Order: sequence, then C-alpha cells, then structure tokens
Amino acid sequence: MSDQNYWRKCIVCKNEIGFSTKYYKCSVSSCDKKRSPAQFCSVECWDVHRSIMSHKSAGADEYQSPSKAQWMAEQSSEPKVRIIKSHSTPQNSGGGSGVDYDDILVVVSKMKNYVKAQSGLNVSGDVNSVLSDIIRQACDQAIIKARADGRKTMMARDFDV
Ligand SMILES: [Zn+2]
Ligand SMILES: [Zn+2]
Repeated sequence: MSDQNYWRKCIVCKNEIGFSTKYYKCSVSSCDKKRSPAQFCSVECWDVHRSIMSHKSAGADEYQSPSKAQWMAEQSSEPKVRIIKSHSTPQNSGGGSGVDYDDILVVVSKMKNYVKAQSGLNVSGDVNSVLSDIIRQACDQAIIKARADGRKTMMARDFDV
C-alpha cells in the first residue's frame, strides 16, 4: 500500500490524483462519504458528477491533497479507529448468568389487547415491568415446588392459578 504513488483516483475519469495536488470536491457534503470519498481531478469531472446526480445548486470546492507523508500517517492510524468503532459493548452487566432481571417477560401487545377487550382500559407503560415481576415471582414459587418434588422440569401444577 505504501508503494502507491498517487493519493486517490478521480471517481469520474479514474485518473490518479497525486500527492500535494489540487483536486475538487462536490459542495454537497453527502456526496463525500467517509467510506466512499468523492474527489475529482478537475471541475470538468465534477460537472459530469453534477449532471449524473442532478444537483440543482452545487459547486466544486478546491482542495489540496495531502503529501505522501501525511497520507501514510493517516493510513497507519486508520486501523486503530476501526477497532474502536467495531468494539462491541457487552449487553448484560448483571452477573455471569446472562439474565437481565428487568427484562419484560410479557407479550405487551397481546396483554394490552386483552385488557382493552375486557375493559376498554388503556395500559400504562410501567404495567409491563410489574407483570414481569409477577411472572418472575410465580416462577420462583414454581421452582421451589418442582424441586421439592425432585423434578428437573417445571410443570403447570407447580403454579397456583
Ligand atoms: Zn477526473
Ligand atoms: Zn455531488
């Protein structure tokens, strides 16, 4: 990569744009994306781009490409940025079990439909977590019963409904 003796290619004519050379960018900022930069060797090339993109009001801004030394410094610093960006933050912060004790365990839309059909009432958002807590408590009770029975499977009869 360091053998490259030009900076970038003009995206229209594919001519090489050298280091420390004048080049042009479209004044429409969304045309120049970080992942697919748009640079032009001449205003004529930009004009081709402008007609392709049918820009109504746009201009070509003049820039100076970096020197080879600057460019190489940029290249070597880029992978570090990518690592930071792709770094994923672990979702569960509570213990090693991977269980979030605040998870919503109910199918909220179905629960709301049921309440609405039964009573015409709307359901406030905080009901979800209360119902989820009730489910967790019921499960905790059922776990105790299933264990007392010496079973490895929780069954319907472990719940007092
Ligand atoms: Zn060109
Ligand atoms: Zn453009």
